[in-house]
Amino acid sequence: MQWPAALERQLNTVLEKQVPLAPLTTWKAGGNAETFLAPRNADEAHGAFAFCRREGVPVWMIGGGSNILVHPRGLPGLTLWMGKINTFTFSPKQDGTFLLEADAGCSIRRLLHFCLAYGYSGLEFATGIHGTIGGALICNAGAGQDAVGQKVEWVETVEEDGTLRRWKSSELSFRYRFSSLREGIRLITRCGLKLLKEERQVVLEKAQRFWSLRKAQPHGANTAGCVFKNPGSGKEPAGFLLDRSGCKGMRNGDARVSIIHANFIENRGSASASEIWELIQACRRKVYEASGIWLELEVNLLGGPWD
Ligand SMILES: Cc1cc2nc3c(=O)[nH]c(=O)nc-3n(C[C@H](O)[C@H](O)[C@H](O)COP(=O)(O)OP(=O)(O)OC[C@H]3O[C@@H](n4cnc5c(N)ncnc54)[C@H](O)[C@@H]3O)c2cc1C
Repeated sequence: MQWPAALERQLNTVLEKQVPLAPLTTWKAGGNAETFLAPRNADEAHGAFAFCRREGVPVWMIGGGSNILVHPRGLPGLTLWMGKINTFTFSPKQDGTFLLEADAGCSIRRLLHFCLAYGYSGLEFATGIHGTIGGALICNAGAGQDAVGQKVEWVETVEEDGTLRRWKSSELSFRYRFSSLREGIRLITRCGLKLLKEERQVVLEKAQRFWSLRKAQPHGANTAGCVFKNPGSGKEPAGFLLDRSGCKGMRNGDARVSIIHANFIENRGSASASEIWELIQACRRKVYEASGIWLELEVNLLGGPWD
């Protein structure tokens, strides 16, 4: 029996074939998933992921698709889209804080809106950040000095060998746009985040301060957030290096480096993943020629090889 049929039988479901992934990404670009499953619950996600690992089938995870570039030739094997696993609860803890327990597919924006409505503090940095909490944990999404890793109590995963694991925050490490959860291949299914109860107005004002950091970013465009990480250690931010190297406004087909913020690439119509990738590489080369710095990607490449 071919693997898709075996997995369909195991999960008692039908896998979709050749599913376009571009609509599931904020860049609106990229190829098809060879087979595709939007698991209905954590057990189904676990079963599918463990099956793929056991059978040597490539497996890819997509949350909100807001920080990925999918290869133009698409993704072989199985793509898991986590958006259907999206419940969350809040409960008070003995130390006076609150525990937000959220499925990996919860939209971070939805969690933030709940916090704003009921006065929970901790996720204000997520103002303007897209995607799911699972993706945020992989990317350690954040803004200013704040990031999701600082709020983690625990994270539940399916590990490479198909076993379930609950990581305590002390077992994980997070730094600027990096999380130890991305070392190796694993599926995040659920997490617990520690939040504080606050006056609603205070939470709202904090969120507004984070929103004001975004004034100099393109809004309403199809982007994937910042393309490159800031090089750090006393070096200028990536956006500044790109700007000074003359990247602002550079185009490749419908892909264009934002004229508002050079670290954003916009899909202004029907840019393909190849066009976006070529533009990324052209920007990198320009910055390298001007400053000797080879910028590291913040965006995650899925599929490949990329050349
Ligand atoms: C306009 C805009 C502004 C943005 N601003 C910011 C910002 O200020 N700060 C910031 O940090 N980011 C920002 N981003 C980027 C992005 O929103 C975040 O990185 C977000 O947390 C990614 O979540 P996602 O669900 O979309 O992940 P995806 O893009 O779907 O995936 C990202 C990575 O996580 C993996 N992944 C996703 N879900 C799982 C899972 N359940 N288990 C295992 N792996 C998984 C994917 O395989 C991929 O490698 C911005 C994006 C946009 C479009």
